[in-house]
Amino acid sequence: MAGNNPAGGGSSYPLDDHVKSVARDLQLRFQQMSSRDQKFDLQVIPDLLSQPVVPEPPPQDDKEAQSFEKYLIAMSHIPLNYENPGLLDEALQQIPLDRLSQEAEEEVELFQAKAASLGKTKPEWSHQECMVRALLRWFRRSFFTFVNNPPCSECLSPTNKIRNVAPTPEERAHSATWVELYSCVTCGAYERFPRYTEAWQLLRVKRGRAGDFANVFTMLCRALDVRARWVWCQEDYLWTEIYSEHQQRWVHVDSCEEAWDMPHMYYKNWGKKMSYVIAFSREGAVDVTRRYVGSPDALLPRKRCSEGVLKFIMEEITNLHRPKYAPDGETRLRLYREDVAEDVQLRALWAATLEQSRRQKAAAAAARQGGRSSPPKSASDANRMGSPATGDIKRPIPEDAPVPDVPSLWPSYGP
Ligand SMILES: [Zn+2]
Repeated sequence: MAGNNPAGGGSSYPLDDHVKSVARDLQLRFQQMSSRDQKFDLQVIPDLLSQPVVPEPPPQDDKEAQSFEKYLIAMSHIPLNYENPGLLDEALQQIPLDRLSQEAEEEVELFQAKAASLGKTKPEWSHQECMVRALLRWFRRSFFTFVNNPPCSECLSPTNKIRNVAPTPEERAHSATWVELYSCVTCGAYERFPRYTEAWQLLRVKRGRAGDFANVFTMLCRALDVRARWVWCQEDYLWTEIYSEHQQRWVHVDSCEEAWDMPHMYYKNWGKKMSYVIAFSREGAVDVTRRYVGSPDALLPRKRCSEGVLKFIMEEITNLHRPKYAPDGETRLRLYREDVAEDVQLRALWAATLEQSRRQKAAAAAARQGGRSSPPKSASDANRMGSPATGDIKRPIPEDAPVPDVPSLWPSYGP
C-alpha cells in the first residue's frame, strides 16, 4: 500500500514544479498543526476540513476504523462493474442517441447565444455536458421509473408491503439480494419486488429507487464515454458526478430528482444532514462531503475514523484501482494534478463556508443585542480564509470584507 505516495503508487515519474510545490506546501502546513491530538475532537473537525491532512493508516487497535476501511474498499468495486464493454454496448443500444444528440445540439446553441448576449466568448456548457443533460431528462422522464410500492401486475391496484423474503434462485441469479413482498389491496395477489444490485439487471427492469437510479445512470454516462462517479452518502442516498472537460471540474447530477449541478440541494432544500459523502470511480475514491454540505450545521459528526485515516483510505482505494485504467505516467500525472486541484478547491470552499457561517452567527448575535457585529474570534481564524495551497494571507480579514469568492469555475453556491 503506497498510501503516502501522492502520485498513485508504483514507480515515480516527473512531477512538474507546480505540483511539487503544492505537495510541499500541504506537507509543511500539516506539520504546523497537531492533528493527532484533534482527531476525535468533534468540535474541531469542521475546522480541520479546511486544512491539509496527511494520510495515516488505521491504527491496529481501532476496529471501527478498520471496518470502515473494509466497507469503503468493498463499495469501491461497484463502479468497476460498469467497465464491461458488453454491458456498455447493451446500455448504448437502449439510449436514443440521435434524439439526445439533436437535443444537445439545440441546447448548446442556446448556451452560445446566451454567452454572446452577455459578451462572453465561452458558453456555460459544451456539447458533452448538454448530452448528459439530455440523457438525464430522457432517463428520468421516459426510461426509468421510481417505485415505492410496486403496483399489482394483475389489476394495477396499489399494494401494501408484507415483509422481505428470500429471492428465488432465478432472482438471485439476476443479482437480487432480497425480495420485498407486497399484496394487492383489491385482488389480494402477491407482488414480488426483487432488489437487484447489478446495473445490467436494473437496465432490464427499468425501475427502482434512488440508489438504483444512481447505479444505472452512472453506468449510462460511462456508456456515453463520459467520466462519471458513483456518489455514496452515509445517510442513505446516492447520486452521480460527471467530469466536465469544458469547466474542468466535477458536476453533481441527481438522476432521481433530475437535478443538474445543484450540490447544495440536499442540505438547503431537504434539510438533510450528512457526515460522509464519498465519490467512487474507476479512478479511485474522493471524500467530496464539503461539496454537498454547505453549512457546518449540516455536517454530522464524522466519528468512523480520524480525518487522516479517511485520507489514507481514499488514497488506498485510488492506488488499488487507478493503475489499471490509467497505466501510463502521463494520464496518472494529469489525474494527480486534478486530485490536488480538487483537494485545494474543496478546502477553500469549506473555509469560505465556515467563514460565512461565522459571519451570519455574529450578525445574528449582534442583531439580538442591538449592537454591531463582533470581529472574528482570532486572527488565526480569519487567516484560515486563505486557500492554504495557493497563497498566504497574513492579515486578519476586516469584518466587513465580503466572503471570498471561490474560483469562478465553481457553480454559484449563493442563495
Ligand atoms: Zn390486484
